[in-house]
Amino acid sequence: MAAVIIDGKAFAAKVRGKVADHVAFLKAEHGVTPGLAVILVGEDPASKVYVHHKHKQTVDVGMNSFEHRMSANASEAGIFALIDRLNADPGVHGVLCQFPVPEHLDERRTVAHIDPAKDVDGLSVTSAGQLCTGEDALISCTPLGCLLLLRARIDDLTGMNAVVVGRSNLFGKPMAQLLLRENCTVTIAHSRTRNLADVCRRADILVVAVGRAGMVKGDWIKPGATVIDVGITRVPHPDKPGTTRLIGDVEFATASKVAGAITPVPGGVGPMTIACLLANTLTACCRANGLPEPEGLTA
Ligand code: NAP
Repeated sequence: MAAVIIDGKAFAAKVRGKVADHVAFLKAEHGVTPGLAVILVGEDPASKVYVHHKHKQTVDVGMNSFEHRMSANASEAGIFALIDRLNADPGVHGVLCQFPVPEHLDERRTVAHIDPAKDVDGLSVTSAGQLCTGEDALISCTPLGCLLLLRARIDDLTGMNAVVVGRSNLFGKPMAQLLLRENCTVTIAHSRTRNLADVCRRADILVVAVGRAGMVKGDWIKPGATVIDVGITRVPHPDKPGTTRLIGDVEFATASKVAGAITPVPGGVGPMTIACLLANTLTACCRANGLPEPEGLTA
């Protein structure tokens, strides 16, 4: 039977709706408006587009959006001074620096300078440690988005075999931790894993974040499994010369014949990332002010 296609675009709209409702509640009942500050260093065109989307969606859910643009040759000291100001600003609940930053800057040091309570990208060592040790953490947005999609499809993940292919700090490791928190039996696979197809075939939940278009074939998938495809690769469009299209890590045509449910690319995981950034900003605001958090928007 053909797999259910998990509609990440529609689910992300639901998440944004929930965020907007809670923002309206915070404003009306507590006079508090969540605020997200985004720092963009340099002129990278793709980063500009991402920052624009973040700004628009932040404003659309009723939050304050603060955009800070710095020149490509901005010094680390200058960026840290800006982050210090944002860390101290009670109207700013989330701070993020759009990556990649120019080569003379260090992403890890930049993230480390953000107050962990405002680290809405969930990329700091503190956030990663809190996630591992089971404390309330701000969770990296894409893994959080995948978890929300999985929870919407499966009532209880307890005892399921979950395989995460990819072990990056940005995605694979936090995703594996989230699945562990849900009481899955978790395997993390990577470029040195032996018999990757066999490992994948054991998964009730298969999450793939590698960046190799179409790597996971239909016969790597356990019949009925839930497949979350995080990979994004831009390739030339086969039918429209001169244009490109996005492809996931999972070969959709074969996988969707075997899986029970699958996220498409585009329109699966991608739209969840900014929605979860907004959810994290709201969560950070509620925690900073000792106010009730919305249900179902965090791990
Ligand atoms: P990354 O840092 O490059 O990590 C890739 C991971 O894949 C590594 O752990 C690597 O293993 C593993 N890998 C590479 N080749 C492999 C192979 N042949 N077999 C098994 N594992 C292999 O990438 P990332 O940041 O995690 O992102 C992965 C993909 O997800 C990319 O396509 C990215 O664009 C996409 N992504 C999408 C979103 C979104 O939708 N918003 C967000 C984040 C990422 P080693 O550790 O052994 O090298």
